[in-house]
Amino acid sequence: MLVDSYNRNIDYLRISVTERCNFRCQYCMPEKPFSWTPRENLLSFEELFEFVKIAIDNGIKKIRITGGEPLLREDIDIFINMIYKYKNDIDLAMTTNGSLLKNFAEKFKKAGLKRINISLDSLNRETAWHIAQRDVLSDVLSGIYEAIRVGLIVKLNTVPVKNVNDNEIIELLEFGIKNDITIRFIEYMENSFASRSLVGLTGLEILNKIGEKYKFIDEGVELGSPSHYYKLENNYRFGIIEPHRDDFCSHCNRIRLTAEGDLIPCLYFDESKSIKSSIRNGNILEAKNILYEIIRDKPEKNRWSGDGESSNRAFYETGG
Ligand code: SAM
Ligand code: SF4
Repeated sequence: MLVDSYNRNIDYLRISVTERCNFRCQYCMPEKPFSWTPRENLLSFEELFEFVKIAIDNGIKKIRITGGEPLLREDIDIFINMIYKYKNDIDLAMTTNGSLLKNFAEKFKKAGLKRINISLDSLNRETAWHIAQRDVLSDVLSGIYEAIRVGLIVKLNTVPVKNVNDNEIIELLEFGIKNDITIRFIEYMENSFASRSLVGLTGLEILNKIGEKYKFIDEGVELGSPSHYYKLENNYRFGIIEPHRDDFCSHCNRIRLTAEGDLIPCLYFDESKSIKSSIRNGNILEAKNILYEIIRDKPEKNRWSGDGESSNRAFYETGG
């Protein structure tokens, strides 16, 4: 079992398999980075899998594959299957922008993926285009429908931004209701890579908009999830993720691994430790020790709950 200095049980590993992306979301990667990490600097799937085995053997129970856009990395279904074959009861999930999913969902399901979170910020073609700086909506919707069809457990992620998509919160919620999939609204997390002009909505502002049309009850924070859940009168549940809340980190159960092999204890801070050379040298004990050090040093809290703080980490690198 992996327990940090604040007595939090860390059982969730997020792996960003690539920093590359085919979208240019305003809140994440509005411009292409000056250069991409050279491919030889990235851990291969075999190398990532060596670390995955250590993580699972030491108490990780949930793994999410993310990015950048994870579907841009070739043979990602093979990586999913490597993990599934090692431990088939692992909670194996992915986060994607959905744009390439139509042709992959079935493969992923067969490889052992259980759940998929798909980012959907707007149901309006122009607004979705404005946010991703690409004409993405119809491909994303096809990806969502295909993931549902093949039997993956689908959730939607939406980042509401003032004067961009905040007029669509009810419509997006109703899309979730109609398709019987959970939607989670994520507070925009300020970071130095995002477009300067963005102002996110607080969880309360999102709830107030939903309250204009629907009555709901507070179901509290779900164990092992960053989400606070609410239930409508028709029993539909939706979530709000509020990293700006002072108590948000008290139940954090996660660490992150980047494609380059950096192990990150918290999304906000710059601290990380690399497992790359340990893995490449076949030094399993050293990699395991780094895992324990990262968990020991995991900070108590992020800094978004402070006044106007902005992180220097790129979400496309850490996987969000
Ligand atoms: N490309 C995939 C996608 O967009 O779903 C996976 C990677 S993306 C970094 C993971 C999640 O982080 C997405 O749901 C995205 O909306 C969210 N995200 C990115 N930047 C964010 C920000 N500044 N604030 C809040 N959420 C953010
Ligand atoms: Fe790409 Fe996802 Fe970042 Fe959008 S949020 S730019 S889809 S990595």
